[in-house]
Parts: sequence; C-alpha cells; structure tokens
Amino acid sequence: MKPASFEYRAPEQLDELLELLADDFTDVRVIAGGQSLVPMMNFRLSTPELLLDLRRVDELGALEHRPDGALSVGATVTQARLLRQLEQQGGWPVLAEGIRHIGHPQIRSRGTVCGSLAHHDPTAELPALAVALDARMTVAGPQGRRTVAAADFFTTYYETVLEPGELLAEVVFPAWPAARGWGFRELARRRGDFALVGAVATVDRDAAGATAEAVALVLFGVGERPVRLGGVEQALAGKPLDAAALASVEPLVAEAIDPVDDLHASADYRREIAVQLSVGALADAWERSSARV
Ligand code: FAD
Repeated sequence: MKPASFEYRAPEQLDELLELLADDFTDVRVIAGGQSLVPMMNFRLSTPELLLDLRRVDELGALEHRPDGALSVGATVTQARLLRQLEQQGGWPVLAEGIRHIGHPQIRSRGTVCGSLAHHDPTAELPALAVALDARMTVAGPQGRRTVAAADFFTTYYETVLEPGELLAEVVFPAWPAARGWGFRELARRRGDFALVGAVATVDRDAAGATAEAVALVLFGVGERPVRLGGVEQALAGKPLDAAALASVEPLVAEAIDPVDDLHASADYRREIAVQLSVGALADAWERSSARV
C-alpha cells in the first residue's frame, strides 16, 4: 500500500511549526518517528494533507535533568536515546525496562517517547509508565503552553486531551528516589509484539524499611487507557508486601478492570493474566525497594 499524496514541511523554528499546525483549513499531522503514522498512512487510515516533521526543531530534542531531579524528554527524543541515557546515567530503571519491551531496536531507534504518548495505543508501554510515574506533559499550542498530568492526558483508545493545533512538546518524569523499588511485567505472544496485558508497579518503603509507605500499580491492555489501581495501592500502603498481602489484593485487581474480548485474547484471559502480572510486578517492586533514606 502507498499513502495518499500529501505535502511535507520540516520547519526549524517551533513558532513556525505551531503556526502551520494551527491552520484550521488543512488536515495537518505532525510526524515524529513515523513508526505508527507511516503504516497508518500506507493503509490510508490516516490521510493528512500536510505532514509537519518535528525533527528539525532543535529545542524539541532536549533530554535533560532538571535542578529538582526531574527528567525532561523533548518531543523528538527517540525511545532508543532515552534508553541509552538511562542505562549510562542510571535512574528510572522501570522506564528503561519498559522501553526494552517496545517492539525491536529498529523501532525504538526511530520511534519517539512523546510520539508513543501522543499516539496512545492502549497496549503501549509508555502511557502506562507515564501514569505510574506521575509524569507531566507539556502541551504547546496556539494559546501558549499548558501542563497536563499523565493521569489526565489519555482519554480513550488512540485519543488524548491534545486539541487540534496542539503538540506534546515534552514529558517530564519526576525525580526517581534511589530506594524506590519497581516491577515491570508484560505478556506478549512473541518478543517485540505489542503486549496483551502489562503491569507497572513501584514501591517506596518507610524509613524502617518494614512496610510500604507508597505503592503505585498501573495496568495496560485492559481498557481504553492505562488503568491505575488506586484501591490496590491503598490496600497495600502501610503493610509489608508479603505473600498474604499480595494474595489479598488479587480480587481487587480482578474487580477494578473491565477488559474486552478481541482477536488476540478473551476478556477473561486478560483479567486472569492482569491479576498474575500485578502480583508479580508488586512482588518485584517490594523486593527491589529499600528503607527510605
Ligand atoms: P509517529 O508515528 O510519527 O506518530 C504517531 C502519531 O502521534 C501521529 O498521529 C502523530 O501525528 C502523533 N504525534 C507524534 N508525535 C507527536 C507529538 N510530539 N505531539 C503530538 N502528536 C504527535 N509501540 C509500543 O508501545 N510497544 C510495542 O511493542 C510496539 N511495537 C511496534 C512494532 C512495530 C513493528 C512497529 C512498526 C511499531 C511498534 N510500536 C510499538 C509503535 C512505536 O513505539 C512508535 O514509535 C510509537 O507508537 C509512535 O512514535 P513515533 O515517534 O514513531 O510517532
């Protein structure tokens, strides 16, 4: 298949790009890594009149640590570049592990972090990671910039709060405490496939190291967007995450999600797997955590 014809522009200035993007009379799309958009164009599921390439705008390529310890990832930073930085400089190990599960190295070397977030495939790793890590999205548009919490960014399948004319300019991951534990588990049919279901967990222990002070658990592949399991997080806070505590939240996980049947798996199978992956990710996170310093 070949795409329908389209115009292509690659501005170097963000202002120019935003001006072109805000044109109400043209069907404009931005292209970042093209790993999702190009196949969609080839299948004519997307037929933009104008394609705006982000990659020549220097300021969108920033990947930097903020003074408060947060990590800021600009719109054109590829998944491979972020993974390399995390492997070399440390921090956010759960993010690194999640990225390793995205497709194959070829996909990650072109695909961007923000492109995956803006595209919002509900079985993608990065949206769930962004929610679990309380990331903040910087949205740029004709009215200037606004910040949106990851928990509010994803609306439904392949949709976000981005309005026409707006761009996800960066995602900011808050500082990663060294003592935080993490777990990342997913089930896919083959290595590199999109997940059927996945789970991201983090645990912060108290100062004595005896109990979990804060727990985060987010599932993907079980609904129209990443699902944060607040009930499970609350049930486990203040306890050691031993086998009994983990077994006690299994029904809470099963009740909190409403997966669908599709070609790849039944809803019941997804629910069963979600329970197992949740317990596994939480156990890993507890094991890897240490006393708060
Ligand atoms: P593009 O394809 O360029 O854009 C995707 C969409 O997002 C377009 O609508 C575009 O207009 C919009 N967009 C892009 N950037 C922005 C922005 N900054 N602001 C606003 N809108 C924007 N992903 C996974 O998560 N897990 C996988 O296992 C996985 N496996 C894959 C396997 C294959 C074979 C392929 C081809 C892809 C796979 N992907 C997977 C998708 C991959 O991660 C993509 O790179 C990602 O989803 C989109 O990033 P991109 O930079 O390529 O975006």
